[in-house]
Amino acid sequence: MNLKTKYDVAIIGGGPAGATAACALAQRGRSVVVFEKEKFPRYRVGESMIPYCYYPLQRIGFIEKMKASRFPKKYSVQFVSETGRVSSPFYFFKHMQDEASTTWQVVRSEFDQMLLDHTKEQGVDVFEGERVRDLLMEDQKIVGVRVDRADGSTADVSSSVVIDASGRNSFAIKKFAWSERDPKLKKVVIWTYYEGALRDKGIDEAATTVAYIPEKGWFWYIPLPDNKVSVGVVAEKDYLYADTRDPGEIFEREIKKNPWIQKHLACGTRCAPYSVTADFSYRAKHCATDGLVLTGDAFSFLDPVFSSGLFLAFWGGEKAAIAVDEAIASGNVGSQQFENYSRQVRSGLEAMRKLVYAFYDEGFSFRGLVKQNPELEGDLTDCLIGHVEKDFSSLFAAVRRVAEVPDELSHGKPTDPRTCLAAE
Ligand SMILES: Cc1cc2nc3c(=O)[nH]c(=O)nc-3n(C[C@H](O)[C@H](O)[C@H](O)COP(=O)(O)OP(=O)(O)OC[C@H]3O[C@@H](n4cnc5c(N)ncnc54)[C@H](O)[C@@H]3O)c2cc1C
Repeated sequence: MNLKTKYDVAIIGGGPAGATAACALAQRGRSVVVFEKEKFPRYRVGESMIPYCYYPLQRIGFIEKMKASRFPKKYSVQFVSETGRVSSPFYFFKHMQDEASTTWQVVRSEFDQMLLDHTKEQGVDVFEGERVRDLLMEDQKIVGVRVDRADGSTADVSSSVVIDASGRNSFAIKKFAWSERDPKLKKVVIWTYYEGALRDKGIDEAATTVAYIPEKGWFWYIPLPDNKVSVGVVAEKDYLYADTRDPGEIFEREIKKNPWIQKHLACGTRCAPYSVTADFSYRAKHCATDGLVLTGDAFSFLDPVFSSGLFLAFWGGEKAAIAVDEAIASGNVGSQQFENYSRQVRSGLEAMRKLVYAFYDEGFSFRGLVKQNPELEGDLTDCLIGHVEKDFSSLFAAVRRVAEVPDELSHGKPTDPRTCLAAE
């Protein structure tokens, strides 16, 4: 495949957000190029999907490939108290009588490769091992990308719009100094993988388990293929680093604080090193400027407690594609064209973010909320499974009576390009 000098859209990053946006644009007849700096398969954490992942994946024609895949089917989520008491699993099919109620736990190296291969099949030019080094600018508008090519050369590629889907590498955030950490969600996470750890039986085998430790910390336990599980611990920095900063020591110490986790890992063997990340919730100051749109983790990242990252990458990637397609069709790719995109994506993020804040609030429990407000169980579930376009005002009015509900973040709107240039 030869690289052309001009495309309708150039996309930085071939992860879930970039691939989904690329497919949605190709379906709309746009010429699209994706530059991915890694050669796939490449490792990523973030293995658990939620039911509403189904719809964008269906719309880009990928869902049959998921159904035919070897990824374990996830029917439910369960919560385990600090004492090891297990809640009855929350089965999605009890809430939604729809095929989307069955979702998956994925090995990201395999899943991301399948999705990128699908993107190629949609007619998108995908170049792996090619890193976008810079944005091309003309009259304060972004008009393309400069790429370090796999053969060692450099190429300038023009496009009507650039989509930044570079994930936590945060291409535009770094270039324009658009970083804004979440004011409160300041957690540390340590994770690894076990082989041969205990799995529940039948349809519970691939359930996601959220197991509590003190001070509202928690473990995730995500069963994967090949008898492996992804397991990680998330908590406040001061709590986790209280007596050591060694990830292995902290992990072993915390395992002992939840009998369910201890029992499930006892028969397994750790089969990967520990990984650590901190202060990971953020939202870029802006989601777009003239000729540039940010999506997926390149725009925002939210604490992983509700496994919303992949959903937000698919859903947000598709929204970005629709906005970009409409802007190109109108002959104007100025920042104001992305106001609606900004409203939609910020609103979806806020719904999830409010629930994340509630989850960490000492005074809050899902059980308590539903007991007090049984009529809101449906809304709560809808939010958790990714139905983020619904109106949740009644739900959050009730949450506000027992827990802190954060004000909406005022940033993340499109901006005039002069702001970007000023920051350089
Ligand atoms: C600890 C942790 C646990 C998580 N758990 C879950 C979970 O259970 N469920 C869930 O849904 N989500 C989870 N997530 C989030 C999820 O992993 C991300 O939201 C998801 O990967 C976002 O997809 P993306 O396409 O935006 O970014 P990525 O998947 O990171 O893809 C971005 C791509 O861009 C490429 N790139 C970057 N810079 C350049 C460049 N300059 N040029 C070319 N290419 C470039 C990168 O190589 C990468 O392939 C978790 C995240 C963390 C940190």
